[in-house]
Amino acid sequence: MNAQVSPTHPPPDADTLQRDRSAAKQLFFGDIFEENLFPYPKMRERDREMLAPMLDAIDSFLTPRHADLKHWDRLAEQPPEFIQALRDMGLFGLIIPEEYGGLGLSNAAYARVLAQTSSHDSSVSLTIGAHSSIGMKGVLLFGTPEQKTCYLPKLASGEMIAAFCLTESGAGSDAASIRTKATRNDDGSWTLSGEKIWITNGGLAGLYTVFARTDTPDGKMTAFVVEAAWPGVSHGPHEDKMGIRASSTTTVAFADVRVPAENVLGEVGKGFKVAMAILNNGRTGLGGGAVGGIKNLIKLSIAQATERKQFGKAIADFGLMREKIAQMTIDCFAAESAVWMVAHYIDSGCTDYSIEAAMSKIFASEAIQRAGYEALQIAGGNGFMREFPYEQVVRDSRILTIFEGTNEILRLYIALSGLKDVGASLGELKSAVGNIFNDPIKGFGVLSGYANRRARETTGVGTDKILRELHPTLRKAAATYEKYVVELSMASDALLKKYGKGIADQQHAQKRIADIAIDLFVGCCVLSRVDTLVRENHAEVESALRIADAFTRQARRRMSRNVRGMDRNEDELIDVLAAGRIRAGHFPWDVV
Ligand SMILES: Cc1cc2nc3c(=O)[nH]c(=O)nc-3n(C[C@H](O)[C@H](O)[C@H](O)COP(=O)(O)OP(=O)(O)OC[C@H]3O[C@@H](n4cnc5c(N)ncnc54)[C@H](O)[C@@H]3O)c2cc1C
Repeated sequence: MNAQVSPTHPPPDADTLQRDRSAAKQLFFGDIFEENLFPYPKMRERDREMLAPMLDAIDSFLTPRHADLKHWDRLAEQPPEFIQALRDMGLFGLIIPEEYGGLGLSNAAYARVLAQTSSHDSSVSLTIGAHSSIGMKGVLLFGTPEQKTCYLPKLASGEMIAAFCLTESGAGSDAASIRTKATRNDDGSWTLSGEKIWITNGGLAGLYTVFARTDTPDGKMTAFVVEAAWPGVSHGPHEDKMGIRASSTTTVAFADVRVPAENVLGEVGKGFKVAMAILNNGRTGLGGGAVGGIKNLIKLSIAQATERKQFGKAIADFGLMREKIAQMTIDCFAAESAVWMVAHYIDSGCTDYSIEAAMSKIFASEAIQRAGYEALQIAGGNGFMREFPYEQVVRDSRILTIFEGTNEILRLYIALSGLKDVGASLGELKSAVGNIFNDPIKGFGVLSGYANRRARETTGVGTDKILRELHPTLRKAAATYEKYVVELSMASDALLKKYGKGIADQQHAQKRIADIAIDLFVGCCVLSRVDTLVRENHAEVESALRIADAFTRQARRRMSRNVRGMDRNEDELIDVLAAGRIRAGHFPWDVV
């Protein structure tokens, strides 16, 4: 492979980022938005310096405790001394600014720390991650100066551990339907009542970010900062879970809790936006954790495959075992490339990255589940034994496609958000389409009528703004993304034209659209990163080029299948089949 630096490419440290634009949304318009994808971002110098000793300290602390961590998984607990040790290491103050006693790490560096803890134990990552990614993130993003001064120092030291309280028994994916109620009192304070379920850190927290429906005429959601010590706040017992067993998960109840007016987080009635902003901002923590988990599985699998001999050979010599190790490597590189691109968007002050964050969460969470399955398979019977680490990783990683937005909901969100902008760009159709998608995650409402107009003219499908400045070695791979970004745009337009009012109900089509967009975004992140590695003449550049090639070929096959599936599919058949089964309520066949 012949690596030469293209004279037209901007220097690697050029800041071309357009902070109010979303590269993922542009994909739906047939545009690979190079400014926000190239060059691949570098971690801040300060973060690099801080990370090196911190990662070593994490390894030194957790490695000798592997037996304990396994035992605590069994017992479903993290002893108070262990939580205290996490406090002492500063792991609750990772992203809190130094002025409040934290370490002031960027999102990129924070995600890297979670990758390290996850390579040892997911429950440890959860305890730290639920605190930083979602529990106290609201105070950081929306807190008043007084709220920050009051709470951030205690949150940084871990004196107060934080939890995020949105989910209720009747409100999971449909978070907007919560029933926890906040009633305003004459003195301006609020009375909070309701119960939240499955709250991570519920049993440890000193501070809860709580979402409730306020008694304003429109009954909108508002966020509150609530101290665990206040009268009326309580939590239930530790849930007995399949995975991440040592991580605290409990109900949290609020029985007529008086919340002072100054503990409203953000604006009254804007709680849904606060919740979504926190979740979007926090997704790189989950993605970083998944990447750390996959790296550990790769290491374990290589050791297992080289040590284990069958048929007179190491099983690492067999094609079917090598295929698994290669696939884990491709998936890990791709997930890492996407997660750290999103972290860079957040750290750089980008304002529109929610789709990219959802894409990176979907890709990383599914990648670790594939990797866990395959690593266990490489280990054979040993993989099934509790003595070995694989079964725990499989159990622990299962949650990642469920919480912080299920992957189904996030796929619908990606598709509808992308389609919203395409619809909105259809000039005269703007008013008809725009409102329908304003809150895709909230309602998945219905698109009202729109005119029959050639979408392609208006949305500019087939523009020539493609990967012109990519390194020549990656040209062939780039051609795949150039082709399929136009296919995505045409498919989006065709969908809007075909389904009109019913577009929001076409979930099979939305899934295909989302999957094409995910492959495009993740693939562009991979190309960007490999492009930078080539230019820097990185020691492992040849392997990185192979990964880019392999990922792109696999992505091309997936995208091709999804594009073809837009018109030729068995969706109707499947729906009718499902309807019949759901009506009947059982599987009616037997061989007897
Ligand atoms: C271990 C654990 C820790 C958690 N930690 C927290 C926490 O700290 N704070 C917090 O607030 N919550 C937390 N949760 C809750 C978590 O965020 C929810 O479980 C998640 O949002 C999904 O909600 P649900 O479980 O009610 O599933 P449901 O919403 O009932 O969904 C069930 C299935 O239906 C699908 N589905 C739902 N709606 C649609 C639709 N419109 N179209 C297509 N498919 C759909 C879903 O994708 C899913 O597959 C936690 C959950 C667990 C298990």
